[in-house]
Amino acid sequence: FASKLPDVGTTIFTVMSQLANEHGAINLSQGFPDYPCHPDLLDALTRATRAGHNQYAPMAGLPALRQAIAAKLQRSRGIAVDADQEITITAGATQAIFTAIATVLHASDEAIVLDPSYDSYAPAIAAQGAIPVRVALRAPDYAVDWQEVERAVTPRTRMILINNPNNPSTSIFSAADLDALAAIAERHDLFVLSDEVYEHLVFDGLEHRSVLAQPALRARSFAIYSFGKTFHATGWKIGYCVAPPNMTAELRKIHQFLVFAVNAPAQHALAEHLADPAHWQALPGFFQAKRDRLAPGLRAAGFKLLPSSGTYFQLADFRGLRANISDVEFARWLTIEHGVACIPLSVFHVDGHDAGLVRFCFAKRDETLDAAIARLASLR
Ligand code: PMP
Ligand code: GLN
Repeated sequence: FASKLPDVGTTIFTVMSQLANEHGAINLSQGFPDYPCHPDLLDALTRATRAGHNQYAPMAGLPALRQAIAAKLQRSRGIAVDADQEITITAGATQAIFTAIATVLHASDEAIVLDPSYDSYAPAIAAQGAIPVRVALRAPDYAVDWQEVERAVTPRTRMILINNPNNPSTSIFSAADLDALAAIAERHDLFVLSDEVYEHLVFDGLEHRSVLAQPALRARSFAIYSFGKTFHATGWKIGYCVAPPNMTAELRKIHQFLVFAVNAPAQHALAEHLADPAHWQALPGFFQAKRDRLAPGLRAAGFKLLPSSGTYFQLADFRGLRANISDVEFARWLTIEHGVACIPLSVFHVDGHDAGLVRFCFAKRDETLDAAIARLASLR
């Protein structure tokens, strides 16, 4: 039958994790921690299931969790959000992204995506019969040329997607970036999807700036978050979307028939865990130390590193090690022959850019990072 996504294969994260497992490689490809979540979170989950919270949660999400999110936004960033009308709990950020896209885009609409882009964006747009219009950013800093972005806007453009901090480029938007985005969005009356799942993973004293703190963007953005990232629990698949009431009302029309509601006991546990700011305030230091543990090992192995300002990824140029193979071949070779799995960068583009780069995940135990470094030492 006619495929809705004829150009889409299996996601690179599944492909590389499978290859890593098959070959017993240390898996620095797909982004997930290999250390346990906070014991209090696990205790809270056990308590929630034993207390009988095992039936459907309310469609928009557990009120206690939505209130805890609103309180966190208010306390940590001074952002006022209405827990009832502006927050929807989703099955991970992935479902929030898909639902926001499905809420806004009609067939033949266009949505602007900045490459390298997280791999779910373009297929989610295409699945609506809409068209992803991709603007490529360039290594090493992946700065956005907002004039180029504006030139990509047509009368059919309805939405622009951003990811800040960015997976895979690791770049972070400045206040000037958000102002430029706001001006374009206002001039052309565009919605903004702002994927902020790495909001707490910023390094070197840099600051994450949310669209929620920028009044012009606040009024037209779906801001999307993930507890998988913030609480080291990617397997729980709980995230949320913050958007103005009219946009949230439309989003929930789709959400209610896509999943209806998401995991109830996990929502109870997360509401409890969110009450303590210590549970996320240590994240920048925690991950910066891991970045700085992996980086010298990669350099010593012969990689040239790009700056990593945020997320839990490190980009590395491998052409000093192997000049004449593609990033996809290099990632396979490194996994199979040297026992360390990574992600090739060109898959985050449509046109083969960044084919000399791979991405390593450093959300791993120190022993795992050290073991990977020891294996990579044989590369030279
Ligand atoms: N957006 C980005 C940029 C991501 O890196 C990820 C994956 N970790 C997601 C969304 C999906 O998040 P979740 O696992 O909560 O669905
Ligand atoms: N976001 C994770 C990464 O970038 C993977 C998530 C997934 O496997 N879908 O590696």
